Amino acid sequence: MTSLSIVVPCFNEEACLGTLHQRLSAAARESAGDDYEIVLVNDGSRDGSWAIMQQIAASDPHVVAINLSRNHGHQLALTAGLDLCRGDHVLIIDADLQDPPELLGGMLECMRLNNADVVYGVRKSRTGETAFKRATAHGFYRLLSRATDVDIPLDAGDFRLMSRRALDTLMAMPEQARFIRGMVAWIGFKQLPIAYDRAERFAGETKYPLGKMIRFALDALTGFSSAPLKLASHAGMALSAGSLLLIAYIAYAWAVGRNVPGWTSLMLIVVIVGAVQMFVLALMGEYIGRLYNESKRRPLYIVQEIAGNGGRPPRLGYVAEATAKSDSPGGSGTRPIK
Ligand code: UDP
Ligand code: MG
Repeated sequence: MTSLSIVVPCFNEEACLGTLHQRLSAAARESAGDDYEIVLVNDGSRDGSWAIMQQIAASDPHVVAINLSRNHGHQLALTAGLDLCRGDHVLIIDADLQDPPELLGGMLECMRLNNADVVYGVRKSRTGETAFKRATAHGFYRLLSRATDVDIPLDAGDFRLMSRRALDTLMAMPEQARFIRGMVAWIGFKQLPIAYDRAERFAGETKYPLGKMIRFALDALTGFSSAPLKLASHAGMALSAGSLLLIAYIAYAWAVGRNVPGWTSLMLIVVIVGAVQMFVLALMGEYIGRLYNESKRRPLYIVQEIAGNGGRPPRLGYVAEATAKSDSPGGSGTRPIK
């Protein structure tokens, strides 16, 4: 068993990889001596990332590079790395060096001194991100914390250090729609924050365009809260109460023989009721779609090949047989999940 694993999901990060490797190696060596591994997960990059990762893995025995069969998305790429890493302690970090690897020593120290299972980074400041990104992130974390019972830390990303016990618990959760920072909060144990300043992206641009951000937010909300469903039933109840009043008024108008032309009010009602119904249906759809996805029980990720010497048997994914090169016990061959 390795004492430390650093897991990095990478999507089109060719410009970051060299510096990333240097800074991660330096930080790891300082804390763990020679006993560490760096797990780079290539999430179907369309640039030269995989070629660079293979080079790095060939030149440094500490590096394991995992090539997924296509772009699976940030959270699933991270899942693949977490599933296959072997460390007693596991650091999750982004490839763009927005989170400083140099914090590792402090995180390990904090974990040891307090006997904690998770030490997560909380952003004191975020430089180099658009006002839109900061505002939506701010609003999102607060909305999420009101909508759910789980204490999901505000302003924390996936940058965190976890014990093997916490990681194994996380990996026992098989869901497809993964909001990892929330799932980690959910498992409990002692979890402590450590504050840091979030830097600018080292190179390249954000891999989270608006569409991905919205999907991510919906996964978080639907995964951790059924408050939106309650919203639907509250809206339904309010509308029903409103229509009772309306029926009373219509009856009264009929009784006193007052025939209002009433086109405007009629149209308003039709439009509003229609809109609310659509909204409620859409809400149901979000949950039903996810139920459907989960019910298929597909592997969460597909590994096309692994460069470097690493990998436990996957629990949540699938490693294709022909190219899985690994000399760890149980680390080769076709390994369909349970
Ligand atoms: N990422 C990934 N797959 C994706 C999108 C992003 O593996 O489909 C990785 C990306 O390479 C980076 C991390 O997820 O290491 C966070 O992405 P990014 O820094 O672009 O997000 P931001 O910091 O802008 O929220
Ligand atoms: Mg980033």
